[in-house]
Amino acid sequence: MKTFPLNHDDLVKLTEQFPTPFYLYDEKAIRENMRRFTKAFSIFPVFREYYAVKACPNPYILKVLASEGCGADCSSLPELMLSSMSGIKGKHVMFTSNETPANEYKYAFANGNIINLDDITHISFLKNALGGKLPDTICFRYNPGPAKHGCNSIIGKPEEAKYGLTRDQMFEAYKICKEEGVQHFGLHTMVASNELNPNFFVDTAKLVFELAAEVKEKLGVRIEFVDLGGGLGIPYKPEQKAVDYDEVAKGIRAEYDRVIVPAGLDPLEIYWECGRPITGPYGWLVAKAIHEKHIYREYIGLDSCMADLMRPGMYGSYHEVTVSGKENAPRDHVYDVVGSLCENCDKFAVQRELPKIDMGDLVIIHDAGAHGRAMGFNYNGKLRCGELLLREDGSVKEIRRRETIDDLFSTLDLAGVDDFKA
Ligand SMILES: *Cc1c(COP(=O)(O)O)cnc(C)c1O
Repeated sequence: MKTFPLNHDDLVKLTEQFPTPFYLYDEKAIRENMRRFTKAFSIFPVFREYYAVKACPNPYILKVLASEGCGADCSSLPELMLSSMSGIKGKHVMFTSNETPANEYKYAFANGNIINLDDITHISFLKNALGGKLPDTICFRYNPGPAKHGCNSIIGKPEEAKYGLTRDQMFEAYKICKEEGVQHFGLHTMVASNELNPNFFVDTAKLVFELAAEVKEKLGVRIEFVDLGGGLGIPYKPEQKAVDYDEVAKGIRAEYDRVIVPAGLDPLEIYWECGRPITGPYGWLVAKAIHEKHIYREYIGLDSCMADLMRPGMYGSYHEVTVSGKENAPRDHVYDVVGSLCENCDKFAVQRELPKIDMGDLVIIHDAGAHGRAMGFNYNGKLRCGELLLREDGSVKEIRRRETIDDLFSTLDLAGVDDFKA
């Protein structure tokens, strides 16, 4: 049974102050989870989690994570800026971008961030962007192609993915950079999304450790850190099991002892850039049931829509749905729980067994703390909802207000349209 940090009465009171829909994040749970994650990987000489900012790009969340020792993984200028604003600076920012404009590389370089290149041609692109020199530290994103089997559907087969360098190109890239005087090297890969099998990550680590060993042997280039990317999944469905961090860490440590230590690469710094497992289970979208209709199916219409949470519509993702105050009621109704977008994929749940829902009931959509509010959009003139942070002392802080119609119209020239003759 999925949990929610507020009881029914407290949630009702909260909705009197902050009307639905809104996101609620649980600071205490985020911190406790982050501590478990860090503890599991403390079996490595140096470990750092670079939180994937795209998962929940809110500076308050980033500050909470930074205070737990997290860095930030970014892929755009605004994400780099958000990290900086949140006090995450220098080498604590990983710039894992692709198809990157020159000015974004310049900003990352000027701020001392680690630049993770997505292609061999980006070496000269970066050099040009920086006025003829390369940074001291460079990381490359490895695409293992067909060498990595069993990848899941969100990211797809590595050989069909747009990211990273081939194995041959990795060697060439380190060689070029060594000749150019680059001093410190990293190796990154990310070949999964929302993967729950711990062995998958152990296998991936093995692949990159072996590559790091071979790079040292063949080129004399010492890779100082390995970034294992994101992709650790969370159990969205009730029958799924959370990834055991200790199991993943111990499995990777065994490969480290087998490959990295004999290769003379110890101490090798181990990085992750996870988003989903860090905040995903600790954020909820709270909405209100405002319509019910009885046609060929039973529908419950919420005051929210896919603009607030597009994962179900975009990927067909499952999110657990509960009704506040009816947690223990029998699930003896079958509903499609839907939003207001003029798109039939705008359904938070399809043919879901739920307790009887009455108008005004507060409907809680679980595991929305990563890739939730962040993916929102304004199609159909929909205004995205705000975000609330439940602090450890039980108080609630609004960390993003809801959008207004003025926000939506702010890019239009409404004064000029009066004089415009069509
Ligand atoms: C999306 C992404 C992540 C985070 O993925 P999660 O599934 O949220 O852990 C990390 N690194 C890169 C390069 C990404 O694109």
